[in-house]
Amino acid sequence: MATGDYYDLLGVSRDASADDLKKAYRKLAVKYHPDKNPGDADAEAKFKEISEAYDVLKDEDKRAAYDRYGHAAFTQGGMGRSGGGGGFSGHDPFDIFREAFGGGGGGGIFEEFFGGGGGRPGGSGAAHGADLRYDLEISLEEAAKGTEKEIRYRRPVACKKCSGSGAEPGSKKVTCPTCGGVGQVTSNRGFISFRQVCPSCHGAGQRIENPCSDCRGEGRVMDSSTVNVRIPAGVATGSKLRSSGKGEAGQMGGQAGDLYIIIHVKEHELFERHDNDLFCEVPIKFTLAALGGKIEVPTLFGKGSLKIPPGTQSGTTFRLREQGVPALRGARKGDLLVRVQIEVPTKLSGEQKAKLEAYAEACGDPANPVSESFVEKAKKIFK
Ligand SMILES: [Zn+2]
Ligand SMILES: [Zn+2]
Repeated sequence: MATGDYYDLLGVSRDASADDLKKAYRKLAVKYHPDKNPGDADAEAKFKEISEAYDVLKDEDKRAAYDRYGHAAFTQGGMGRSGGGGGFSGHDPFDIFREAFGGGGGGGIFEEFFGGGGGRPGGSGAAHGADLRYDLEISLEEAAKGTEKEIRYRRPVACKKCSGSGAEPGSKKVTCPTCGGVGQVTSNRGFISFRQVCPSCHGAGQRIENPCSDCRGEGRVMDSSTVNVRIPAGVATGSKLRSSGKGEAGQMGGQAGDLYIIIHVKEHELFERHDNDLFCEVPIKFTLAALGGKIEVPTLFGKGSLKIPPGTQSGTTFRLREQGVPALRGARKGDLLVRVQIEVPTKLSGEQKAKLEAYAEACGDPANPVSESFVEKAKKIFK
């Protein structure tokens, strides 16, 4: 298995087109092909790595899985590596090479190899089930406190009638007459011969005499499934949870894939989340800002209390420690940051107006702001 990034191995960007991939692969394959580097183990290893990378990236489904889960998509039975040949990812990279080069030294015979991969049953017929993705939307409160959700979805499960074998109970499997049990057939187009997966048995080498009437020989049927997932406190949009074995059922006794739950946290009308800190704006009366006092503030966990010191300016931010979102793995909880906005009254009663005018008079010139430093700087302009 290659461990490096497949895109890096091929020297292409992550948005490379199929054509770019093919060009990059061919160039590297020429350089590292064992025929050109006899006895060079490093070159051979490199050749196998780039072949593996190309093998994955040229397949749209596999590429999407790789983009999402990286190598994990293939090491945990992700995309259904089929059994069959064993060894290097179930098929021979040198056959891909023949595809890329046409007859180069091969006696003028083009050979395209379709074996293995792609979830098709290989020699033994067993294939891993594909992983599934479920996008789950939760509220910010749920993300902060943790929750449990029941997820209902449809997935292929093993057929009950035939226990996943695809054969009608009582009927047996027979060697595929089309390919003689090999799983591949060779067809000739002019002087070019192609080897491809047997169309009758899809590579299994066996055929079912009487296909199961429930699943039509597929061994799997679509059914609705329910899974309960515990969502830990502290998840964020993009958090991934894995429910092992809850993906598509395998074929012919193969392992089931996994279900990946991707979390999406809905926007909250009061709180804005930055990592584990929460931000919120709270309006306060201008008199409270001037005189000081205590106010109640909302938190995700109920009511909090905030002391406003006398002389608080609009836009001042106060930090309420550990009133934010908990960190996923036990680390520090986030804080709640409250930014106060001072409200200027828009309607004044007669009495309020008279008292404010008296206040203004007590302050002297009502046009001058209170900030001394501003007054000093403005004087230079006004003089
Ligand atoms: Zn069945
Ligand atoms: Zn066959």
